[in-house]
Amino acid sequence: MEVPSEENQMDSPKKCLRVILFPVPLQGHINPLIQLAGILYSRGFSISIIQFGFNSINPSTYPHFNFHSILPTLSETDANTGDVIAFALKLNCCCFSPFRECFSNILSDTSKGRIACLITDAAWYFTQAIADEYNIRRLAVRTTSICSFLAFAALPLLREKGYIPLEESRLEEPIPELTPCKIKDIHMIKSGNFEDIFRYVTNVVRGNRASSGLIWNTFEDLERAKIAEFSRESPAPVFPIGPFHKYCLASSSSLLEPDKSSLSWLEKQATNSVIYVSFGSLAVINEKEFQEIGWGLVNSKQPFLWVVRPGLVPGVQRLDRLLEGFLKVAGERGLVVKWAPQQAVLAHQATGGFWTHGGWNSTLESICEGVPMICQPAFGDQRVNTRYVSDVWRVGIHLENRIERGEIQRTIRRLMGSEEGEEMRGRIRSLKEKGEACLRPGGASYKSLDRLTDYISEI
Ligand code: UDP
Repeated sequence: MEVPSEENQMDSPKKCLRVILFPVPLQGHINPLIQLAGILYSRGFSISIIQFGFNSINPSTYPHFNFHSILPTLSETDANTGDVIAFALKLNCCCFSPFRECFSNILSDTSKGRIACLITDAAWYFTQAIADEYNIRRLAVRTTSICSFLAFAALPLLREKGYIPLEESRLEEPIPELTPCKIKDIHMIKSGNFEDIFRYVTNVVRGNRASSGLIWNTFEDLERAKIAEFSRESPAPVFPIGPFHKYCLASSSSLLEPDKSSLSWLEKQATNSVIYVSFGSLAVINEKEFQEIGWGLVNSKQPFLWVVRPGLVPGVQRLDRLLEGFLKVAGERGLVVKWAPQQAVLAHQATGGFWTHGGWNSTLESICEGVPMICQPAFGDQRVNTRYVSDVWRVGIHLENRIERGEIQRTIRRLMGSEEGEEMRGRIRSLKEKGEACLRPGGASYKSLDRLTDYISEI
């Protein structure tokens, strides 16, 4: 999709309508929100983004958007709790006042056009009360799959039915209420406190239901039944308009600088030969797992491009020495970078497989380039996404057992050098084509986006 120039955009009939977006300050949330901002800009809206004073993108990368900052007061203990749910609950409280002040300032500046709506990450449920107070519609955007969201929203019900607290001996049991998930797939959230989890789920679900609409980064041919199931229950209109990242050129909302040497290295590799390995922006592994992954990759004899981002293996000093050891044996066959231009890597013809943690952006990006996966989920939505990748869409292998070099070597061979792997490649290519068709005029996502554009314009 072509992004209009500033000048053309001012000629658009919606030139006076402004949309305010508010992402969660994490890479996997920032990317889709910024992509959505680009999509709406291309449809003629002017864009304002409220971001944090930390983990924020450089406004000069997007000169056609207006940026505003808030800096909530957080103690060091709040920020380093390690408990994502406690942190999310805390943020929803301590952002209220700074966000309200910033929002009110934006509303009072009428020089940049009327405000059509506020679009926030669904995790920011606190914003609904502020939008209501100012009589502005709030739409929520979910940055996960619908299948994983439905599992997340079902946690209170699953507790009532006795699946939670999880029992080690029952982890392999299927959950008939959530087919094809098993009990171990709902082991989603690391938190010291169950009550916090249920409070958070309840708040997000309530915030969704009170919103004026829900935008999803998914597409009809991928999650048809789940889109229908969610839409049936939702009092607010539902807009599945994904995959977001395919509307615009590769996004530049990376918080770390992508290492472009990945692409020149890929140029030297044979078609479909490279396994790309990245566990996203948050997942961590321990030193033993790091060693097993390194030797598994080396022993597989397959060319590999491995993202070892700062903090991937917390507290280990001798990472460089370990990496040197792997690369000495792998030679030209291996490349390690701190951060990759992932979308371009997946789109490269040399990339034949993606060993991922199953984050939704990574999963969708892999589907959109027709690259089959090995999934090693850690937490959150990753386990349910992985269940769908392996059991429903059948476009990847779930690395379920412990992380061990022999198992890794065999799994890479299965994906990259077997008939089973070729079948997965065929299926994921067909999904890629369906995703492309959804975005073309007349396609389901295209029509949803038309609906969304009209809906936002009705103020
Ligand atoms: N990403 C990237 N370069 C890397 C690793 C990841 O650009 O080396 C991007 C990736 O394309 C995706 C996002 O970071 O858009 C990660 O989001 P995801 O939902 O997959 O995982 P999370 O980081 O939220 O766990």
